[in-house]
Amino acid sequence: MADELPNLSGGCHCGAVRYTILEPPLSVQHCHCESCRKTTGCFYNTGGVMRQKKVNIEGLDNLTKYRTSKSFEIQFCRTCGCSLFAYEDGESEYFYLNLPTLDGGTYPGHPREVESHAHVRSKAPWEYISDEIPQFEREGPGEIITEIQKADI
Ligand SMILES: [Zn+2]
Ligand SMILES: [Zn+2]
Repeated sequence: MADELPNLSGGCHCGAVRYTILEPPLSVQHCHCESCRKTTGCFYNTGGVMRQKKVNIEGLDNLTKYRTSKSFEIQFCRTCGCSLFAYEDGESEYFYLNLPTLDGGTYPGHPREVESHAHVRSKAPWEYISDEIPQFEREGPGEIITEIQKADI
């Protein structure tokens, strides 16, 4: 099932950065941490854990990189500012892709059980989470946790 090829396309608002996903995300975190709020301007960021080799990216030259912590880098379009990808240092197989950037808001094909609200203890106090997705005070299941991060905690 996980190896079925959805071949779904997405990209940033201006179209300079495009990607195709060849399989559904392994897990999906709706992350409410302050870092995600400050870099997206939204209550939370929806990142899917993807295998790097299962995502084809075009327009890499148009990505700008920004480190939100010592070991975490987000990448966004230098033209339109859309936040697209995020990488943990020391992790070469998996990365995060911001799934709402799929064209037409297409559902990426993962089982709903692998979704979580993560870092809910850091959410804005006036945000009201009204869906049935499980909530976690800190990390959500399936989040990328590297040895570098463990050493940081
Ligand atoms: Zn763009
Ligand atoms: Zn976050």
